[in-house]
Amino acid sequence: MDKYNVAIIGAGPAGSFLAYKLGCEGISVILLEKQKFPRYKICAGGLAKKSYDIIFSENKEIENITQKKVSKAIYVRNKKITITDAKKNLIYMIYRSDLDNFLIKMAVDKNVEFKDNIIIKNINQKENSIIYKDKNLEKKIYYDILVGAWGCNKKLNRLVNIIPFESYAISSSWEGRAGPIYSKYSNENIICQIFKGYPGIVGYIFPKKDKITAGIFTSLNSTDKLKKMWKEFIDFWDLDKNIKPRYALIPIRDFNKPIARENILLVGDAAGLADPFTGEGIYYALKSSIFASKNIQNYLKNKNYDLTYEYNKEINTSFSNIQTWAKFYEFLFQRFPNISFWFGSECFIGNEILNSFIIGEIKYNELSKIIKYSLKRIFKN
Ligand SMILES: Cc1cc2nc3c(=O)[nH]c(=O)nc-3n(C[C@H](O)[C@H](O)[C@H](O)COP(=O)(O)OP(=O)(O)OC[C@H]3O[C@@H](n4cnc5c(N)ncnc54)[C@H](O)[C@@H]3O)c2cc1C
Repeated sequence: MDKYNVAIIGAGPAGSFLAYKLGCEGISVILLEKQKFPRYKICAGGLAKKSYDIIFSENKEIENITQKKVSKAIYVRNKKITITDAKKNLIYMIYRSDLDNFLIKMAVDKNVEFKDNIIIKNINQKENSIIYKDKNLEKKIYYDILVGAWGCNKKLNRLVNIIPFESYAISSSWEGRAGPIYSKYSNENIICQIFKGYPGIVGYIFPKKDKITAGIFTSLNSTDKLKKMWKEFIDFWDLDKNIKPRYALIPIRDFNKPIARENILLVGDAAGLADPFTGEGIYYALKSSIFASKNIQNYLKNKNYDLTYEYNKEINTSFSNIQTWAKFYEFLFQRFPNISFWFGSECFIGNEILNSFIIGEIKYNELSKIIKYSLKRIFKN
């Protein structure tokens, strides 16, 4: 009988990093993924320093798949351009296909059984079993613990009856060569841009070695506005109109709803843990996997350990404060896009604060105190 301590569905950063962490402890893990790896993933490919550091501390070879380390940013507010240099690495650029493949290799090296290109046919929660189809053959496996790491797949959330979402952010990614206008500013810059008439929507460009990734992000539910702004964005930077951007949803959690039930835990986007203000999700995917790994180990050592309660509690303690602040900043940004954007880019102190925040030196709850203090000083002078 094919029985595993842990069955994980979904091999994005959340699923594969959890598989790796459990594999390191000699726990038997099967990782089931519907796509054939390496696969393309809609993403800007920006790893915050804090995410990079988590992976680097486990495997220094992450350096080999890092496309660029970026310290400079260009902010464009209603066509006003501000060039900034943090003089320290802000974001590490990667291709998601490279990163996800790298993390899978780390997991497989720790004896995790990885099955890609499979179709989940059924999850039987009474029997603790999964039936999946692998190359036209149906297979059945049993698990002690099931982990949902399936990203934004609402169907599977419904199947296990854990739906912790409040709303969805939406973002797009476009990949192509940089045109002359962007190249003029060198390929070493992140671009972050807002346009008049589109409050709450941000355009971005993240540079890679040979290409750039561009797109837009918003927590607003307005696909129409998004598409209109994208047109202005590609005109501004003269990006290739023939390459179509791809859109994807980022689920945002309602912290009153649980992300675990009985012997089922959710991690990463499947639990709605991405940041609703910045759209950053890889960090939360990695961190939730670290928490899940620790709690699963405790449970496997002691079956009286309340896995569901402890995991929910740890995630809520670590993230609910962050998410509440993130939602507040997102609200401010939608209401007052100009002043918020000005503060983070054109105002020197504001930009320093933003950089420390991106790196992970300052957390959301500290951010508000610092902003309040800085605004007082700015307006006093
Ligand atoms: C356009 C865009 C840009 C973004 N840019 C950034 C960025 O620059 N930095 C950042 O930190 N975050 C970014 N994010 C957010 C980030 O991509 C996600 O938060 C992150 O991928 C979450 O990781 P995950 O492992 O939880 O889910 P995912 O990475 O989505 O992985 C889920 C996996 O589950 C698999 N799966 C789904 N259904 C099934 C099934 N039925 N059976 C088996 N497998 C299944 C999928 O194929 C996938 O491989 C961006 C998101 C978008 C949409």
